[in-house]
Amino acid sequence: MATALVTHSDCMKHEMGAHHPECPARLAAIDDQLISSGIAGFVERYDAPLATAEQLARVHPPDYIEEIRAASPTRGIVHLDPDTAMCPGTWDAVLRAAGAAVLATDLVMRAEAENAFCSVRPPGHHATPTRAMGFCFFNNVAVAAMHALAAHGLQRVAVVDFDVHHGNGTEEIFSADDRVLMVSTFQHPFYPYSGTDNPASNMVNVPLAAGTGSNGFREAVEQYWMPALESFKPQMVFFSAGFDAHIEDDMAMLRLVDQDYAWVTRRIKEVADRYAEGRIVSVLEGGYALSALGRSVVQHLRVLGDF
Ligand SMILES: [Zn+2]
Repeated sequence: MATALVTHSDCMKHEMGAHHPECPARLAAIDDQLISSGIAGFVERYDAPLATAEQLARVHPPDYIEEIRAASPTRGIVHLDPDTAMCPGTWDAVLRAAGAAVLATDLVMRAEAENAFCSVRPPGHHATPTRAMGFCFFNNVAVAAMHALAAHGLQRVAVVDFDVHHGNGTEEIFSADDRVLMVSTFQHPFYPYSGTDNPASNMVNVPLAAGTGSNGFREAVEQYWMPALESFKPQMVFFSAGFDAHIEDDMAMLRLVDQDYAWVTRRIKEVADRYAEGRIVSVLEGGYALSALGRSVVQHLRVLGDF
């Protein structure tokens, strides 16, 4: 069985303005590094379907889904918040991004892929049930995790979020839902200024100070994430895979390097191998320094696929 790479050309058609960091070139940069590293030939590529209303509605109320659809412009760009905007290509991109995460879940659950990475945009972990924010519209990883619970009958899934920003949307969706354990690290204090006030017991949030590098990150994972994951024994693991904690990424001030992404992927894969028959679905979140993003995804995939 291979590692699946789920993506779609529609994800390149979402644009938020000429100098916006969450840009189509991010996915091209990942593709370039997959080719130059030689691992493009080892992954099984799938085109993402459009997420269905039923799949989205497990996370987002129908009114909100309709609000986003209705906000889609036929030309130009419409801002939903200062960071988050829609163009004519956005609606298809958001449905492909969530649909990719659902297909990846199906492929892994049906044992048609060993694990899967979704190279998609827009990202999702800031999207709350009823609010688009922070470049996010629908919460892709939450839609996938709910699909694993609702459509595949799993009882315990873990969400692992190493994006430099706190996944406030995912936390809001799963707070106090004891079928889900969320473990995360994020720069704090930093956008979206959440994650530290009384998190629910199924949220293992580890704030990291600006300037934290490999050692501090790895200590946080060992000290806080691993014991929680070991006692939770997830039946499937989802990565909210943001690569913006990289030292080369100007979006924030953590100092991870390429090898940290291989390391954390390996530690989490050990958990998945022990309790979840190896089932992992990883969904792209942030990562804005194009070369570092592509290289870090390669590190992540090398471990997922044993390349
Ligand atoms: Zn981020």
